[in-house]
Amino acid sequence: MTLPHGFETLRAQDIPEINSHARIFRHRRTGAQLISLENDDSNKVFGITFTTMPPDSSGLPHILEHAVLCGSRKYPVKDPFIQLARGSLNTFLNAMTYPDKTTYPVASQNLQDFYNLVDVYLDAVFFPRISPRVLAQEGWRYEPDEDGQLKFQGVVFNEMKGAWSSPDSLLGRESEQALFPDTIYGHDSGGDPQHIPDLTWEQFRQYHETCYHPANARIWFYGDDDPAERLRLIDDFIREFGPKQVSLEVPLQKRWSEPRSVRVPYDVTGDEEQQKGHLTLNWMLDEFSDAELTLGLGILDHILLGTPASPLRVALIDSGLGEDVTGGTGNHLRQMTFSAGMKGIDVADADAVERLILDTLETLATTGIEAEMIEAAVNTVEFRLRENNTGGFPRGLALMLRAMTSWLHERDPLAPLAFEAPLAALKDRIARGQPWFEQLIRQWLLENPHRATVLLEPDPAAGERRLAAERARLEEARNALNAAQMQDLKAEAEALRLAQETPDTPEALATIPLLRLEDLERQSHVVPVAEERLQGVPLLTHDLFTNGIVYLDLALNLRALPRDLLPWVPLFSAALLEMGTRHEDYVRLSQRIGRKTGGIRAGALLSPVVGSEKCSAWLTLRAKGTLAQAQDMLDILRDVLLDARFDDPGRFLQLALEEKAGAESGLIPGGHAVVNARLGAHFSEAGWVGEQMGGVSNLLFLRERIRQSEDGNAEAGAILEDMRQRLVNRNHMLANVTLDATGMDAFRPQLGDFLSSLPASPPQRHSWQREALPAREGLSLPAQVNYVGKGARLTDHGYSWHGSAMVARGWLNTSYLWEKLRVQGGAYGGFAVHDRLSGVFNFLSYRDPHLLRTLDACDGAAAALAQYRPGRDEVTRAVIGAIGSLDSYQLPDAQGYTSLVRHLVGLTDELRQENREQVLATSGADMRRYADALAAVRDHGDIVVLGSAAALQAAGEERADLPGTVTKVL
Ligand SMILES: [Zn+2]
Repeated sequence: MTLPHGFETLRAQDIPEINSHARIFRHRRTGAQLISLENDDSNKVFGITFTTMPPDSSGLPHILEHAVLCGSRKYPVKDPFIQLARGSLNTFLNAMTYPDKTTYPVASQNLQDFYNLVDVYLDAVFFPRISPRVLAQEGWRYEPDEDGQLKFQGVVFNEMKGAWSSPDSLLGRESEQALFPDTIYGHDSGGDPQHIPDLTWEQFRQYHETCYHPANARIWFYGDDDPAERLRLIDDFIREFGPKQVSLEVPLQKRWSEPRSVRVPYDVTGDEEQQKGHLTLNWMLDEFSDAELTLGLGILDHILLGTPASPLRVALIDSGLGEDVTGGTGNHLRQMTFSAGMKGIDVADADAVERLILDTLETLATTGIEAEMIEAAVNTVEFRLRENNTGGFPRGLALMLRAMTSWLHERDPLAPLAFEAPLAALKDRIARGQPWFEQLIRQWLLENPHRATVLLEPDPAAGERRLAAERARLEEARNALNAAQMQDLKAEAEALRLAQETPDTPEALATIPLLRLEDLERQSHVVPVAEERLQGVPLLTHDLFTNGIVYLDLALNLRALPRDLLPWVPLFSAALLEMGTRHEDYVRLSQRIGRKTGGIRAGALLSPVVGSEKCSAWLTLRAKGTLAQAQDMLDILRDVLLDARFDDPGRFLQLALEEKAGAESGLIPGGHAVVNARLGAHFSEAGWVGEQMGGVSNLLFLRERIRQSEDGNAEAGAILEDMRQRLVNRNHMLANVTLDATGMDAFRPQLGDFLSSLPASPPQRHSWQREALPAREGLSLPAQVNYVGKGARLTDHGYSWHGSAMVARGWLNTSYLWEKLRVQGGAYGGFAVHDRLSGVFNFLSYRDPHLLRTLDACDGAAAALAQYRPGRDEVTRAVIGAIGSLDSYQLPDAQGYTSLVRHLVGLTDELRQENREQVLATSGADMRRYADALAAVRDHGDIVVLGSAAALQAAGEERADLPGTVTKVL
């Protein structure tokens, strides 16, 4: 190959671990670096990454990330990002800001779509149309109201208020920042709402000039597209730039000689039971270029904390000093970190927790770590590396982020991708009996003085203090304004509002590349499935290439449970795998799962059924392992199903506390999901059951169970035992296997033996009467933002499903709600969800500064849609977007599971094909018809709002029917 398109080849190398040929290039004129990975993965990935070092905590890099996606030279529309999201087949489209870099990745399986995405992103980063107004919209601005009071407004401002409301996110942030007080890592790259208003336009503009130059760019390509074309299209974009000296090297933090500690107040309500602290111990390790050491430290994390058997986790949980364990190895900063800590502690116990962590590490370093624990951790990490299962996240993107941990700091970018050599060296050390992990604990933790203890202290006054400081700042800003300046501010706010409300011109919109309808696949993707019975048990098999891994899902029918046992399902799932069996304690069991399988998970599968009021409800055990591990995997499943022991009240309480802590930490980051689940419970059996097993209802149930357990009530063991008797029944279960046919032939007899060893009894079927919930509900918690929801079951109001709903819903998500809630309202997001099977439609907002205004916007959707007169391209764009959402990329195990779900709910390939054709044929008039459905939500919808008590109360002062019944959830 000749030297291509202005690039020189620095290096070429096969990486068999990821089935790829890698080449590293440098652009001669500008110095841009490019890694090109060639392989047969159709899920192509492109990413461009800049080193962005935050100068302070104003969120500059993060706001700039938002701003460059607000229009560019070639694409002069307000929001090319959302235009792309509206009409692309992308499998990934986003941008992320980290403490030291900002990255813009895209992925698609369609080549033309892929090139379109790359083009828009390159134009965005190099030639954005950033302006003071973009900074005001995306970053922060003063927004004057009628009587001249000021408020802060801005997308990132509100996004970060949400992020700072979450104790987990606060703990992670403070823990990291505490270790690096003298470097950029001591700042908040996302933005601290208290400092975001410090950011000026001049700083902002300068920063783009400095950082977003090809000389500071790292460009990544991955997949089955043409490698030469990659270089050509990059060269086309960057050749107009000259060379530039950039010295954006992340500085190293100097090692301390003494440990330090920090106390940080965080928001809680005044309730006594909420007065819990969170504590972490954090170590700065070092900058490592030794791949074996990096891998070893990752395994050490798994040994110490990663499983229920991990000795540091066991010591902390057994101490009863807190509710849940947190921590692990951090690999995304220039110098690695390690942390360990506890959530939900009494602040008075902080020293005890710290001592316990250090003492446990000392004991492990001195007396040694159990060989079984090491074996389990090594096997689990090795399995993960080989399986390379990134779920819905593109593999090429996961690899890019891994390479970036080295590449950004001028270390070998390919080293983190090639794991065979370091893994072999590491296993060799273990085989020789070298106490390596013990040495790592001693060297990098116990004898490392660069340690920061971070304690998050509950402070019921913290929120009020912060608000008062914000008010004072706004007051001061207002007093500094003379009448003319105030007038200017009002005029600018009005101008921004107008600009936001003015649609892009058709000419501008036409610049955004668009696929043609003919480019779309007409046929739905069909997952291979065969149905048989094995030992009387229905068995589905999916003949897919899985690289020798068996994916087995066992589904136990939850209809065997009476209604009052439904809230117990998550605890039962955890207890099956984490309480031990009659022959081994939970530590041994967990180690055996780690040593002998690729992992076993338990959880609920819950869905409405096509054409029925009833839902399909199952407890699934999802296990995976190599074919060689298959027998061990089945033995473990049999042991847990038949012999799991539930008669240890102490262990049960630990599991319940972990479940509760997990549910509580999910409330703020997943507030929209909480509201969605709660609204679902208003309308359908599936929604109600789901909420019993995973929503606010389940959280309240867990709290009650914990109170009873702490009062010495030991009935839980008997209840779990009763559930096992009902659920483990060969006549009331099914099995689902994803594996190629040859592998299946080997596995079938083993699976048959396993199934025949399970008990069989006549299946019981309970019907569940769901409880009515109040039509207006407030859920209160200490947060600086709201999550607003309004929904209805459309089938109750005469709507029956048609594929055009997906197209119209795309318009809601990417046009109407995007503009009203995000661009104009300053919420981080606004969505509409419409579940085909239940018929439930919900409007939802995410990290929303408003409440009533959002409800009004939702109510306005019907009228706006009825007025909508889209051009042909707009309809095409919306259809493509809907097809893109139908065709999400799935790895084989996910395909097999999806096929199982479709089987259970009666979603046949014919129904899916019919739906696809309806989507493809959707017209503007079809979309408008959906306005009737939205009007039903407006007129008859239920409302659920998760937000602060103050916000709920303020809403009630304006609208008598709100907030309705208020439940305090935190
Ligand atoms: Zn953001």
